[in-house]
Amino acid sequence: MRPILLLALVFFSACSAPYQPLATLVNVEFAPKPKNVIFLIGDGMGLSQVSAHIYWKGLHKNIFQQFKTVGFHITHSANELVTDSAAGATAFSCGHKTTNGAIGITPDEEACRGIVENLEKAGYATGMVVACTATHATPASFIAHRELRAFTDEIAMDFLETPFDCLIAGGKKNFIGRIDKKNLIDSLKDRGYAIKSGTSMKSIPGKGQRPFVIFTDDQEPPTASGGRKYLPSATRLACDFLSKRSEKGFFLMVEGSQIDWAGHANDRNWLRAEMDDFDKTIRAALEFAAADKETLVIVTGDHECGGASLLKAGKKDFKTAFSTRLHTAAWVPVYAYGPQASLFSGVYDNTEIYEKVVRALELN
Ligand code: MG
Ligand code: ZN
Repeated sequence: MRPILLLALVFFSACSAPYQPLATLVNVEFAPKPKNVIFLIGDGMGLSQVSAHIYWKGLHKNIFQQFKTVGFHITHSANELVTDSAAGATAFSCGHKTTNGAIGITPDEEACRGIVENLEKAGYATGMVVACTATHATPASFIAHRELRAFTDEIAMDFLETPFDCLIAGGKKNFIGRIDKKNLIDSLKDRGYAIKSGTSMKSIPGKGQRPFVIFTDDQEPPTASGGRKYLPSATRLACDFLSKRSEKGFFLMVEGSQIDWAGHANDRNWLRAEMDDFDKTIRAALEFAAADKETLVIVTGDHECGGASLLKAGKKDFKTAFSTRLHTAAWVPVYAYGPQASLFSGVYDNTEIYEKVVRALELN
């Protein structure tokens, strides 16, 4: 056979190789209803970012092909077709469209009670694991109620108002060393939290007996390629802790925060490293869910960022190109695994993700 033909055959047979699920994730007999929800947000992760990752990581070697249920959500905010991360995360946490920049409030500036507050009240354990500061727009929208995402010191105050069980994030500076001289770390300790700083996820602060915060950085954590490694292990730690924390169940929000920043920077290598880290993080969540059988895992983005596209570069390769340094209005894929995953197929508004979580947990 001529070498070129052989090469073509190898290439096309590789592309059409049968779907290869991870052995641990298949043939799992899920409970009819989820007890726990792990909600993973790739900030700025649209279909192009996922597509690029799938080719970079390799067909059948990436985590996204493990999902059988896929849907799309429509990302617009209350006042703009192109959303920001504050309005995007408020839609997820509260089920309300709000104006760009607003944190956990309606367009009328009423605080909207979010999923973390509602589930805490119903007896669930709740937590967040992110690759940015705790007060950044996405995690803030699950805890705080503020007019603007820029009010980060005020947002930090809201971590004393909304109960939660664990938080692993950067941004210690918003809790201590503040302009108003308040020491919110002491305030958290007064409320019973164990506080630790660092990125080792080997042991649960407070021996798992108390709620906890791990500050992974004083400011923004580094990039994945710059040495940040904690997101997958922090996700595992949070799942282990939260699953023992309440008989009722848990809700864990995990954010691959810097996928978005790579998009803003139009930086292909940054994007590649962040998507790889997020892949490992999703894997950790799925492995927990497959063993647990009562955990629903949802993976999505809040919006696309960078207008990323995959352009032809020879016959078997692509190059990434960006059309903007801002967010775009493109629909965003939703992947679901576990009990009631099928609720997440179809095309729907970002606010419906909140409603689907509520329905899956049979909260009303
Ligand atoms: Mg974010
Ligand atoms: Zn952004």
